Amino acid sequence: METLYHSTRSANEVVTSKQAILTGIAPDGGLYVSDQLGETKVDLARIASQDYHATARDVLGTLLTDYAADEIASCVAGAYGSNFDSPAVTPLTPLGTDWLLELYHGPTCAFKDVALQMLPRLMSVAREGRGQNIMIVTATSGDTGKAALEGFADVPGTGVTVFYPDGKVSDIQHLQMACQRGANVAVAGIRGNFDDAQTQVKRIFADAELGARLAASGTVLSSANSINVGRLVPQVTYYMDAYAQLVKRGAIKLGESVDFCVPTGNFGDVLAGYYAKELGLPVGKLIVASNTNKVLTDFIETGTYDRRRDFVKTISPSMDILISSNLERLLYYLTDGDCERVAAWMAELSQTGVYTLPADVMFRMRETFACGFATDDDTRATIASVWEDLGILIDPHTAVGACVAYRRESEGRQRVCLSTANPYKFSADVLAALGTDTTGMDGFACMDALQEMTGVEAPAQLAGLRTAPVLHPDVCDQDEMSGFVEAACQRVFA
Ligand SMILES: *Cc1c(COP(=O)(O)O)cnc(C)c1O
Repeated sequence: METLYHSTRSANEVVTSKQAILTGIAPDGGLYVSDQLGETKVDLARIASQDYHATARDVLGTLLTDYAADEIASCVAGAYGSNFDSPAVTPLTPLGTDWLLELYHGPTCAFKDVALQMLPRLMSVAREGRGQNIMIVTATSGDTGKAALEGFADVPGTGVTVFYPDGKVSDIQHLQMACQRGANVAVAGIRGNFDDAQTQVKRIFADAELGARLAASGTVLSSANSINVGRLVPQVTYYMDAYAQLVKRGAIKLGESVDFCVPTGNFGDVLAGYYAKELGLPVGKLIVASNTNKVLTDFIETGTYDRRRDFVKTISPSMDILISSNLERLLYYLTDGDCERVAAWMAELSQTGVYTLPADVMFRMRETFACGFATDDDTRATIASVWEDLGILIDPHTAVGACVAYRRESEGRQRVCLSTANPYKFSADVLAALGTDTTGMDGFACMDALQEMTGVEAPAQLAGLRTAPVLHPDVCDQDEMSGFVEAACQRVFA
């Protein structure tokens, strides 16, 4: 049976998964969802006995039914090959009496690679026969931009343009982007902050004249945002595979429930855990861990989503978010597909910054979701104690999750903490958490000191940046961004 998708805000227009992946966001501003989610369950015994690639094929085959089996197989093989530095792709390792699911073995050392190594391949297959070129345009506060560049570099029929706020990303994040290779990539710093970059990118997407000029030469603009179905679905695989690894290690018996603790920003990662549960994975609780921007903790505790608060810059920057877009999909499923109510809450959020869910919906949410938050001080203390007690080095995002997990009473189930970035990606903050005064030290000095202190090796992808040539020195003003995108389209698709 073909799985079809429609907007969370209206079920009138139905699209295939290929169309949903090419379009990204639904025309009415909603997110693509499928009413068939959960109708087909995965075979747990089969999942528990097979490897990551086979499970990825099963998951994608179940949720993206208009892709042929051979298309899915080649996407999976290409996305999770030697570009990951672990044959297990996302290895599960002990964390004291809990478990760490290492999602950072991809080319950019952050969990976004799991989805962004796959999305370009899914898009490339979906665009076949349409003859259109796709230019991905992304504003980034650090991690997403690099993962998108690495994912789309040299993928036929696509290009990728990334804008980052000049001087406001870490030394290492800056070099990761400025040294990006690939004939179809464009990178520029902008004079302004992340919000300025994001606002301009939205204007570029809404610019009808630019759109018409690009369409005339066969190019469409698209985004690699985490609301894309093609980013969400690949993330379901590692929940299934983590379960398989627990069974194989003898840590659980087939059928036993497991809790997952997830450092959360845009709610994409943890939502994939909910999808895994709907597909039949025995999930106990999904623990939503936030940093000081704890909109989600307050929401799950009180039922009121309230973004009317100051945005706080933390040492877990990829979770610094006040509007968790993917939550909209969960609301859809928790109301049994009530588009009207979802649309009304989202309208309230955009007009007033706040909405409140009724008790019955919150009851359903709390059946699966628990929550908690960690301040920067909590985060640093967790990095230090996990290192001192267990000899394991974790990054600040992972530490937010571990801190929240440790504070909760264990409910007697095995717990998996999702580890979303390699600690060396945030060398300075990790080193400082271990007690070193990092004043005056650049990113590489921190990397060296951390390596010397812990004996944990820095990943080659990051260490190699020291000698990599800067290929993208451009810095532009905000009003030059549109022209930069158009020039990139002309150059890449000439
Ligand atoms: C993006 C990101 C997160 C948050 O994931 P969401 O899917 O946005 O909830 C957490 N940690 C790291 C390192 C990230 O890059």
